[in-house]
Amino acid sequence: MTYTSARNGRIEVVAGVMFSGKSEELIRRVRRAIIARRKVQVFKSHLDDRYSGIYQVASHDGRAVEAVPVDSSAQITRQVDALADVIAIDEAQFLDPGVVPLVTGLASGGVRVILAGTDTDFRGEPFGAMPQLMAVAEQVDKLHAICVVCGDLASRNQRLIEGRPARYDSPTIMVGGTEAYEARCRHCHEVPRQDQDQEVLFSGVGGGG
Ligand code: ADP
Ligand code: ZN
Repeated sequence: MTYTSARNGRIEVVAGVMFSGKSEELIRRVRRAIIARRKVQVFKSHLDDRYSGIYQVASHDGRAVEAVPVDSSAQITRQVDALADVIAIDEAQFLDPGVVPLVTGLASGGVRVILAGTDTDFRGEPFGAMPQLMAVAEQVDKLHAICVVCGDLASRNQRLIEGRPARYDSPTIMVGGTEAYEARCRHCHEVPRQDQDQEVLFSGVGGGG
């Protein structure tokens, strides 16, 4: 039995910084949809096994639901179950722009689409298709973590390379070296730029080009 009617279609976005509980919130909505006997499908981009197996949407508290790993919106299109009432997509920031027409089409066809994703990258700039997804969504919830420096609400992903704030132009993919991420507020978030480094290096030396 399916409860899908075209009028149930909608888009929900759960946005926010890392560690803000987006996966927890996505899983909470998925679990409730399952209790309501909706047919649910979960996809997760960006294959990582930080917290659990790659076939699960994992939350830091260890609760998990099965998820299908994908690298592109086309892979979701190919694997969408025509009978699904609810489609959840975690780590949506890593998907290509094709995710926008995909979820718009699904919602128009009666599917409730729930997307979770980090809305800003380590520079504090909009991440992937998140701005477009937030614009076309019926409902947007922006979650916050706790700033590990000052304890205020965190809205930024602090990237650290070898323990130091990553520079604005640091490579997206690190080859070797250790990198880590922290949740920080706007004021504790640090993204040194090339010219700032030079100012420090050359101050008092009289220019430096
Ligand atoms: P997200 O999907 O947004 O990365 P998760 O749902 O995976 O978030 O994890 C959220 C959990 O992370 C919180 O419930 C908390 O236990 C833990 N956590 C770790 N660091 C922080 C932090 N700096 N602020 C808030 N929660 C944190
Ligand atoms: Zn702070």
